Amino acid sequence: MKMDHILVRYGELALKGKNRGHFEKLLLANIRHVLKPFPKVQAKRTFGRIVVELNSTDHEPVAAALANVFGIQSYSLALRVENELEAMQKGALFMLTQHPNAKTFKVSARRAYKLFPIDSQSLNHKIGSYVLKAFTGELTVDVHHPDVNVVVDVRESGTYITAGVYAGAKGLPVGSSGKVLHLLSGGIDSPVAAHMLMGRGAEVEMLHFHSPPYTNERAKQKVIDLTRELTKFGRTITIHFVPFTDIQTHIHKEVPSSYEMTIMRRMMLRIADRIARERGILAISNGESLGQVASQTLASMNTINEMTNLPVLRPLLAMDKETTIAYAKRIGTYETSILPYEDCCTIFLPTDSKTKPKRDRSAQFEQYVQVEEKCREAIAGIESLEVTGAHTSPTLDQLF
Ligand code: ATP
Ligand code: MG
Repeated sequence: MKMDHILVRYGELALKGKNRGHFEKLLLANIRHVLKPFPKVQAKRTFGRIVVELNSTDHEPVAAALANVFGIQSYSLALRVENELEAMQKGALFMLTQHPNAKTFKVSARRAYKLFPIDSQSLNHKIGSYVLKAFTGELTVDVHHPDVNVVVDVRESGTYITAGVYAGAKGLPVGSSGKVLHLLSGGIDSPVAAHMLMGRGAEVEMLHFHSPPYTNERAKQKVIDLTRELTKFGRTITIHFVPFTDIQTHIHKEVPSSYEMTIMRRMMLRIADRIARERGILAISNGESLGQVASQTLASMNTINEMTNLPVLRPLLAMDKETTIAYAKRIGTYETSILPYEDCCTIFLPTDSKTKPKRDRSAQFEQYVQVEEKCREAIAGIESLEVTGAHTSPTLDQLF
């Protein structure tokens, strides 16, 4: 016997009333996206849940892919058998052999298909006693707190048997909350921030500033790789690469070093604001954490934030670095993030950055930077790239 289905349940979606149908469709599309590497596997929506048919594909990698999808509350491995008592008994036994450490169990039969002649109470009894006999003393029944609850779900199309429930990624399906323009660096924080936003249903579009030749192709590839890691949580993701060399060299030349970083950040946000508006995106996000570095003090945020009146979402604002690092390791971005390629923020890095930059001083310095012209040029030079998924994502060589 072989596990042949995975039953997917969605929780928080139920709260969303009228939008439910739309959310379910999105979730199904996101599930299909992560299942693309498994051509025989099919996902279908049926009666308030999603059924994944394995069609003889191994269940483990499929379950691992599903575990990443936001909006899934829980899932169970399932065996489908014919609507016959003997098949159900054997199936239940097989499912219990998947739990070698279990000491107690119970059977919970549900008979949605009322034409099946045995009622659920009798099914519990007949299947339970069959299992007890087979395990002779190794397993006992505990109806209140069993180690394993064997659910036998009798439907017209067949009986689905599950034993055990695995926690899903929870949250909301990516795309259900709209789109966010995310400032993605090659660092540890911003991929984590993107993941958190995706977990609340945001579809992220990435904006990355690079300064060739000071930043190299490997740094660019790193940003693609980080984005590719994030696609396994539900969607194709677009990256916009903004050429930033000219702006940075200009700032370096014209602005006192203590304000260089502030002006550079203001330019980034100015450009982000314009791109978001052009693309009908309602919010910008980044990986800032309060007080982490000079550019992330409240005074800095205040001065930099002046460049936009779109909401700037900062999911990591109150998180400490250790927690963020542990998070990055868990989602698989950490190893890529720590590769030592130069980010545009670290070139010409001033050592005397102001921790309390002022808005009016910043505006004065910007008079020497030809802000309008530089922004327009940078935006005109944007290269965009769609990263489709861990299995199909292109590499730089193929693209540029
Ligand atoms: P990260 O690990 O995300 O790089 P960090 O702690 O190193 O964060 P900074 O380098 O000060 O902090 O950057 C703060 C935020 O600004 C980043 O989280 C990111 O959202 C944005 N940012 C920094 N550099 C870039 C870049 N080259 N392109 C796009 N966004 C950037
Ligand atoms: Mg950084």
